[in-house]
Amino acid sequence: MQDDFPLTITAILEHGSKVYGRSECVTWQGSGGRHTSYATVARNAERLAAALTRLGIVAGDRVGTFCWNNQEHLEAYYAVPCMGAVLHTLNIRLPAAQLAQIVNHAEDRIVLVDGTLVPLFAAALPELKSVEAVIVIGAGEAPALGDIRVLRYDDLLAAEEPGFAWPELDERSAALICYTSGTTGDPKGVVYSHRSTFLHALSGQSASLTGATDADRILTFVPMFHVNAWGIPFGSFLSGASLHMPGPFMAPGPICDFITAERSTLAAAVPTIWQGILTYGATKEIDLSSLRMGTSGGAAAPRSLLAAFQDRYGLRIIQGWGMTETSPVAGMAHPPVGVELGTEEDLDWRVKSGRLTGGVQMRITDEAGTELPWDGVAVGEIEVRGPWITGSYYLDPAPEKFHDGWLRTGDIGTIDDRGYFQITDRAKDVIKSGGEWISSVELENLLVGHPDVVEAAVIGIPDEKWSERPLACVVLREDASVQPSEMAAVLAEFLSGQVARWQRPENWAFLSDVPKTTVGKYDKKVLRARFRAGELSMQRLEPNSAGDAEPDPAPDSGPISGT
Ligand code: AMP
Repeated sequence: MQDDFPLTITAILEHGSKVYGRSECVTWQGSGGRHTSYATVARNAERLAAALTRLGIVAGDRVGTFCWNNQEHLEAYYAVPCMGAVLHTLNIRLPAAQLAQIVNHAEDRIVLVDGTLVPLFAAALPELKSVEAVIVIGAGEAPALGDIRVLRYDDLLAAEEPGFAWPELDERSAALICYTSGTTGDPKGVVYSHRSTFLHALSGQSASLTGATDADRILTFVPMFHVNAWGIPFGSFLSGASLHMPGPFMAPGPICDFITAERSTLAAAVPTIWQGILTYGATKEIDLSSLRMGTSGGAAAPRSLLAAFQDRYGLRIIQGWGMTETSPVAGMAHPPVGVELGTEEDLDWRVKSGRLTGGVQMRITDEAGTELPWDGVAVGEIEVRGPWITGSYYLDPAPEKFHDGWLRTGDIGTIDDRGYFQITDRAKDVIKSGGEWISSVELENLLVGHPDVVEAAVIGIPDEKWSERPLACVVLREDASVQPSEMAAVLAEFLSGQVARWQRPENWAFLSDVPKTTVGKYDKKVLRARFRAGELSMQRLEPNSAGDAEPDPAPDSGPISGT
């Protein structure tokens, strides 16, 4: 075997542009799509690499992008790693100070900025230490960028010829860097190699994940700055699936127009986006008939959400699990063979977080580090390892996250004897009441199943007797059937029979919205801070008013026992 054949992004680019040169990247423009073939994307990537070389970028240099999902971003996805440099996709929703922190940490030399985002990027500019030039894509107010050298993407490409000679690369060299979204602390850099990206892309198109082929058109709604858009831009050049890029049109209306006009067959998004489509579709006629499957990840998708898409649109959304540190995909929850699709049993499987995919190994451990059984019952911290799981953070040792080659994910959950795993909480979010664990994710998922609830986030708050009790922070529909003052009792009653009595929250807060992170997840750090500052107006149900919300006494049975 030619075991030394390098697995590089250059090989992905070559395959996609030659074998699937006619597949397309379609960038939505509001009322129609801008269509470009993969062959043209490859030629533009060559031009961009030539331009960056002329600007002094050499192997190992970091080049940032501050862009929407669009064709030019895709060109940078290939140009930068294939020339041997490292692509750093910047989160356009970060506050200026955090953006500057990340750019400085990665030492980006050049940043490609979408014209519409110039003012946002300019806000961070005074704090940037390493950036020598900005390349503006499309029109944009360059004066906002002050004294820094400003170049225009279109001009740079026009000045170059295609046919850049891609260098031979070591498959283990750095190709991309992403920073974690920082929900639980400072963002940390995760570096992806050519090899890890290649193997992850190969796995992504397998039937146990998307099963994508050149008959697919994948609406890549997950941002290209969030874990490389789940690897879809790379997988598509291997499978030949066309890419549908929403550009700045991120609201449910335009997404639905895009799907209908361009007949997307697959769509990938976080649950809040799926929820947005559902809410939009409640009052508008929408046509999702071209979609053969949706995928959801990044946070738990509630059963009610999966069921609503199934019932209203016949659309099966398959959940996947992963994190920035895992490239991200480690598994998707396709039901086992023999399950009739569209049934309750189908849903029972689809509410799982995923089924472990080939190439990734998983185990769950208790707090003492002892491995727990794959019985679907034992709850422990999920640990993973494999060729696309990071072994360290960039310039940040974080030894508590890595041991014996395993990544401690900080996610708590179960795994069964067929490799289906269920995340019940983040380690930091889990609520420990009277020595027993309460899953905030389970409570949230059940609460949004109530017709009057739009969003629900549950956090633990200190309790003298039980050490911690759950506080449910809920957003109600504007036309909710009952007044907020009565809602706590209604929702506590709604939970009865679905969770143990002692798991039902007696503390409730009704909010206008749940704070979210830059990638659309509930920001429990902010909720906890608001609670500590006394900013949440809380209702407390007396123990018996909700059919006894008093927790049963439970011995302090140690860390991660059954919930
Ligand atoms: P990020 O690195 O921003 O992608 O966040 C990764 C984290 O998102 C994971 O560690 C999980 O806590 C959470 N997550 C991702 N997918 C799921 C899922 N399907 N269900 C529950 N949590 C998820």
